[in-house]
Amino acid sequence: MATGSPTRTTCPYCGVGCGVVATPQEDGTVSIAGDRRHPANFGRLCSKGSALGETLSLDDRLLHPEVNGRRAGWDDALDLVARRFSETIAAHGPDSVAFYGSGQLLTEDYYVANKLMKGFIGAANIDTNSRLCMASSVAGHIRAFGSDTVPGTYEDLEEADLVVLVGSNMTWCHPVLFQRLLAARERRGTTIVVVDPRRTVTAEAADLHLAIAPNSDVALFAGLLDHLDRTGLRDRDYVERHTSGLDEALAAARRRGFPGAMEATRLPAEQLRAFYTLWSRSERVVTAYSQGVNQSVAGTDKVNAIINCHLFTGRIGRPGMGPFSLTGQPNAMGGREVGGLATMLAAHLDINRPDHRELVRSFWGSPGTAARPGLKAVDLFRAIGQGRVKAVWIMGTNPADSMPDADAVEDALRACPFVVVSDVTRTDTTRHADVLLPAAAWAEKSGTVTNSERRISRQRAFLKPPGEARPDWRIVCDVAARMGFSEAFDYRSPAEIFREHAALSGLANDGTRDFDISACAGLSESAYDALAPVQWPRRPGEGLDGTATRFFAEGGFYTPDRRGRFVPTPVAPPEVSEEFPVILNTGRIRDQWHTMTRTAKTPRLTSHYAESFCEIHPEDAEDAGIAPATLVRIVSPQGTAVVRALVTERQQKGSVFVPMHWTDQHAAQGRIGAAVLPAADPVSGQPGLKFSHARIEPCEVAWYGFAVVRNRPETVPAEYWALARTDGGWRIELAGAARAQDWATYAAALIGRGEDPETLSYSDQDRASFRLATFSGDRLLGALFIAPQPVAVSRTWVVGHLAAPAIRGAERLRLLSGRPGADQPDPGPIVCACFSVGANRIAAAVADGAASVDAVGEAVRAGTNCGSCRVEIRRLIDAATLKTAV
Ligand code: SF4
Repeated sequence: MATGSPTRTTCPYCGVGCGVVATPQEDGTVSIAGDRRHPANFGRLCSKGSALGETLSLDDRLLHPEVNGRRAGWDDALDLVARRFSETIAAHGPDSVAFYGSGQLLTEDYYVANKLMKGFIGAANIDTNSRLCMASSVAGHIRAFGSDTVPGTYEDLEEADLVVLVGSNMTWCHPVLFQRLLAARERRGTTIVVVDPRRTVTAEAADLHLAIAPNSDVALFAGLLDHLDRTGLRDRDYVERHTSGLDEALAAARRRGFPGAMEATRLPAEQLRAFYTLWSRSERVVTAYSQGVNQSVAGTDKVNAIINCHLFTGRIGRPGMGPFSLTGQPNAMGGREVGGLATMLAAHLDINRPDHRELVRSFWGSPGTAARPGLKAVDLFRAIGQGRVKAVWIMGTNPADSMPDADAVEDALRACPFVVVSDVTRTDTTRHADVLLPAAAWAEKSGTVTNSERRISRQRAFLKPPGEARPDWRIVCDVAARMGFSEAFDYRSPAEIFREHAALSGLANDGTRDFDISACAGLSESAYDALAPVQWPRRPGEGLDGTATRFFAEGGFYTPDRRGRFVPTPVAPPEVSEEFPVILNTGRIRDQWHTMTRTAKTPRLTSHYAESFCEIHPEDAEDAGIAPATLVRIVSPQGTAVVRALVTERQQKGSVFVPMHWTDQHAAQGRIGAAVLPAADPVSGQPGLKFSHARIEPCEVAWYGFAVVRNRPETVPAEYWALARTDGGWRIELAGAARAQDWATYAAALIGRGEDPETLSYSDQDRASFRLATFSGDRLLGALFIAPQPVAVSRTWVVGHLAAPAIRGAERLRLLSGRPGADQPDPGPIVCACFSVGANRIAAAVADGAASVDAVGEAVRAGTNCGSCRVEIRRLIDAATLKTAV
């Protein structure tokens, strides 16, 4: 195959929405580069985006439809889906069926799924994993603005004097935008404040870190509102002309005030005062927030507590100022535009308003529209478990792992009479599917996505779907046609769907709704294909260029009286539990995405953290009898998970942090969702994924192991295992409750036997320690290290042997020792995933005189691509400096 032409598309990971240029190569690989013309990233990509080309293999793809675990033809599978949904609706009513979608779906996919459910089935039971991500922002926006509007743009972060990041580990979760912010700080001296209970890498990069008590954000910002009032910072003109409800909000804030904020946040008075003073004195202030705010039972109040301060000072909608919700997913915003949440109608129309429902009904020509909001995610899976929802279609997401109380979700799916899953790969959710439909993946799909700053970008296909995979919009339309709605779903292309979506946004709008892209309603196929990134709104007659748009500098809110609303945010003390005294906080890590269906495919991205972990404060660890690197069991009323203890002072006492990513596909007992509380915000329905009651216990472990193997074993014979891909094979962390009778036999089962095998091994007398390496010809087939304590070998160095073309003589013995000789470099744990640079190489560069992050970059390239590891490099430099000083 000749080198293909470059295709401009969009990264499928986070809400920054970076532009990507993908170029198929002669050897079948695809080269990936940042799109210099895209206004979200101007050519930059983070570690995940840069590695996209390594995630396109077909080894685990779903290639054919399956019915009850057996291959089926598309016609049979689609007929069955349509028939079972129609029969269920006929027998039990429209509310007995549901769709559960994903922020990975394109806007066009979302549009037709929403149209089918709300318009033609007549229920609103379509919700999405975006409910877990930013529903509280949506609810907070609607309460304050009358619409789900993000007022500002990314440029505002660059034009602000003060940027406050609340509950946002932006360095890892929105890396390219964070690099833009750091560059702006270099240029103009922006002050960065991070509000986060954890000392994250973002907090370490900040000028001020407010390590508040978990869930005390409302008190912090209510205290700020009170402070702004007391110090005369009210923008009287703005408040009087454009807002309502201040008295109630102020009264609520005053009740707690500074003392209340101090008590709830547990911050020292001077630090709290310094923050309030900083915020007061900075006209250009952006308060950006993400999951630490949204994923809370008080998430909507947190959002409104922040917005209140911006409305009070009139710092909204002007360059360099405003509240800013950073969405987690690539198309969370697009899903909101088309009504992909159970609580919305399409085009930001209100499902609770009969006139809006009628507008949509007549536009679609549907028999009716859902008359009330449907079930939000947590309630939806609860309803499935209770048998009220009897048929569910899950599209492009993995609720068996990502939902709170994930074991109960699995039970619900197991009991559900009919489960359809359309997806790209097998997941823990697909094992419950009666019908499995192979969907086209990122590289094969065409449509649009909208990023956190309301910018619509094209996602363009550059590969053909493999096997029988089809785009999601096509699958939904095929089912809709079989349910009797062929005329309304007779689309021939995503462009046709987009035009309809754009036309609906302008219907009877006249500036009464924020979301209006009717300037796009007449796009030809070729104009749609060529569409450059464009921010909404784009009203009739407006150009489709890249100019920034902002809202609310001059009021013009979308409430009935067009005034922005202050919302009182009472502060509720957090619940405490004696039996489960620890707060479990879950979230993302730098190089993984959601449930790892894509990011686990590339060794580059598994090298930073190859297994799940629990960040725990040293005193908590000591109290619980948990030693560093041992295994810890997290127990909650919902369930348990077992992960590695990472003892660190970055974690507050009384709380632990566990990544959300690991599933049964990559670990035994690593599904932290099983331990997460299903409590949700009463307004938004977003679950409080960052605050579950739990306790931590040491695991009884008789042996620990570490293995590298060329082939993934079908089963791993250990109570605990965590598996990650490496160059040339797999690495496995192991642990068990009882030692094997014969470690050599155990190793053979794990590693397998190649041709002409040669095995070297070592065992101490009581079999507590054991090492083995098996070679097939010149190459390593696998190695196993067993010890009574966590295995201390140089993992990166050992892993590197899997890809080595030949290992002979003394090198084989050295491998058995698990450590390189003095003449060999040991890269150490990988810090920079972009260039695979380990901590030891960085330390060596520092020892050689590299005293700054830039100098380290010059010496070993670390930190010179996406920049997400620069804080970790700084940490290594500081540690080396401290050591020298001592
Ligand atoms: Fe993708 Fe990274 Fe850009 Fe997010 S910051 S869109 S993950 S390249």
